[in-house]
Amino acid sequence: MSKILGIIGGGQLGMMITEAAKKMPEHISKIIVLDPIENCSASQVGAEQIIADFKDKNAIIELAKRSDIITYEIESGDSDVLKSVENDAEINPSPETLKIIQDKFLQKSFLLQNNIQVPEFIKIESISDLEQGLKKFGYPSLLKARRDAYDGRGNFKIDSPEQIQKAFDYFNEKNLMLEKFVPFKMEVSVIAARNTKGQIKTFPLVENIHQDNILRKTIAPARISEKIAKKAEEIAKTTMDMLKGAGIFGIEMFVTENDEILINEIAPRVHNSGHHTLESSETSQFEQHLRAILGLELGNTTLLHPTIMYNILGSKNFEGEYKSINLSEQNVFLKMYGKKISKPLRKLGHVNLVGNPGETIDQLLKKLETLKDRVSINPA
Ligand code: AMP
Repeated sequence: MSKILGIIGGGQLGMMITEAAKKMPEHISKIIVLDPIENCSASQVGAEQIIADFKDKNAIIELAKRSDIITYEIESGDSDVLKSVENDAEINPSPETLKIIQDKFLQKSFLLQNNIQVPEFIKIESISDLEQGLKKFGYPSLLKARRDAYDGRGNFKIDSPEQIQKAFDYFNEKNLMLEKFVPFKMEVSVIAARNTKGQIKTFPLVENIHQDNILRKTIAPARISEKIAKKAEEIAKTTMDMLKGAGIFGIEMFVTENDEILINEIAPRVHNSGHHTLESSETSQFEQHLRAILGLELGNTTLLHPTIMYNILGSKNFEGEYKSINLSEQNVFLKMYGKKISKPLRKLGHVNLVGNPGETIDQLLKKLETLKDRVSINPA
């Protein structure tokens, strides 16, 4: 029987889930998203929309009443409200998992309890906690907001004792944690899925390059030894065994100089570093997420072509309407998210550069350099 899918969040992730859902009419008859922005990205591709904040209790209740199954593209939904509507709609990943993951301190404590390696961290409730923590971890260290922090916006790198007060004040009394700085040689991630029947599959390890704390590009596969890639995928599988609920999880990790692997962060949802799967793999992460929450057999995750995903971000010093981007190159796939207004570093779209047979990652990186200007954001 075809189901009505509710999604908390209708940004680009909700948009690409909606597009995947529309290709599965035998399983999903309608998509409804809850998002505060009128005419959000997902609504532009055929989702109905409830216009309200992600944490709006009545809106979540309405979404549950109108849906058979609920998922989310953003982890800031109210997990207690979601738990309370479980009788109205099936919710995946489970609200219990969401509650742990949406608080970075609870998330890291949970991983540690399950013997999964993470950077050293402590809870910060006062300036003296911070001073003590910095004595322990040294400089630099990262002060992080425990909740509702995206794209590094909730992090403050403390390089010296003079910055302690400034860092503490920056957060304005939010719940905080301090983390030891990890001098990693590479940031990587695994997109992992579990379906409601317990089947688990992972996509191959990818390499992530950040700028200004925001993902800039993903290289699939990661330029790292097979042994490390295997180890990272094993860690991802172990992590999936610990976390309840079905769906895609984006598991971000650091690889250190001596090839230790530490988990940096888990997202209980489809993830920016999985966008390459739209063109690099038989099953995209969006279809896989739907297969997982619908209890269908998970799709093939083999990487068919080396691929680079490059995020199209708003220019740093510009806010307003921007010129549309056109690209018609073989094996270059442009995806814009339908956002009318550019803001500094706002994610507006991405391109996937897919390798031809025999083409190397280095060649793809060179090709990307020739395209960068053509995908940059300029005022209309
Ligand atoms: P987050 O939002 O916490 O994932 O952090 C955003 C980015 O900050 C990460 O992708 C890393 O590049 C960097 N970062 C976060 N935590 C650490 C850490 N403990 N050591 C070094 N870099 C970090």
